[in-house]
Amino acid sequence: MVEICALASGSNGNCYYVGNEDEAVLIDVGISRRQVLKRMKEVKLNINKVKAIFISHEHADHIRGLRVLSDMNEIDAYLTKATFSKTRNDNQPKRIGIFKAGDIITVGNIKVHSFAKKHDAIDPTSFRVEIDGVNVGVLTDLGTADTIVKQQVKQCHALFLESNYDERLLEEGPYPIYLKNRVKSDRGHLSNDQAVKLVDSLKDTPLETILLSHISADNNQVEIAMKSFQMVSDRYKIYPTSRYAATPIYTFEKALNENEQASQLKMF
Ligand SMILES: [Zn+2]
Ligand SMILES: [Zn+2]
Repeated sequence: MVEICALASGSNGNCYYVGNEDEAVLIDVGISRRQVLKRMKEVKLNINKVKAIFISHEHADHIRGLRVLSDMNEIDAYLTKATFSKTRNDNQPKRIGIFKAGDIITVGNIKVHSFAKKHDAIDPTSFRVEIDGVNVGVLTDLGTADTIVKQQVKQCHALFLESNYDERLLEEGPYPIYLKNRVKSDRGHLSNDQAVKLVDSLKDTPLETILLSHISADNNQVEIAMKSFQMVSDRYKIYPTSRYAATPIYTFEKALNENEQASQLKMF
């Protein structure tokens, strides 16, 4: 059984959990180790199962708790070389694995597929975590859903998908012009409408569950983001994430690979 959970999501901090009975990975540690442990305990997840941490980019809301969690719990941390070069000296963990976008990193029986994305960081990457035949995409801090992102999304059963801002709220909101332009640019964040458009364009893919992620506190509301996704709610299960608490754990049965499917068919 594959379990996924957003321990934190938003500009205060991001941390996403993907695991099975034996092992797990975290994508990003943008909250303190104390918060990670507290929130995991609240939803009955076990930190000892976490075998690796993957960092998507150097912004504080994705990396803040990295060193303390990695060092104290002896968990390997994977970053690209450029992202590591932008990591503050006092936040550099001892156990470092360097990868480059496009690499597939194997952690026990988990495969983490990394790929480049567009965002205003030095070397932003996203991940598709493949575990027991289930694919989970972690896609936040995306300026645009480009071809690489679309190819990855097509393979996913579940997505942590950025639904950062409502276009009208951003326009009318408190941000200075330069920041509004930054958010909207193709190196900024995905709006509700852009995120819906991405999943609405999918046909014949295994996608069943979407967790709306990195929802802005200033330029969006959970209700508005959820409402935007109503048009695809007959096709997918849609849930919000929160910056203040872990989501419930969502589970997926092990997906059969082609050989297993073929041998099951023979039995009938
Ligand atoms: Zn972020
Ligand atoms: Zn960012």
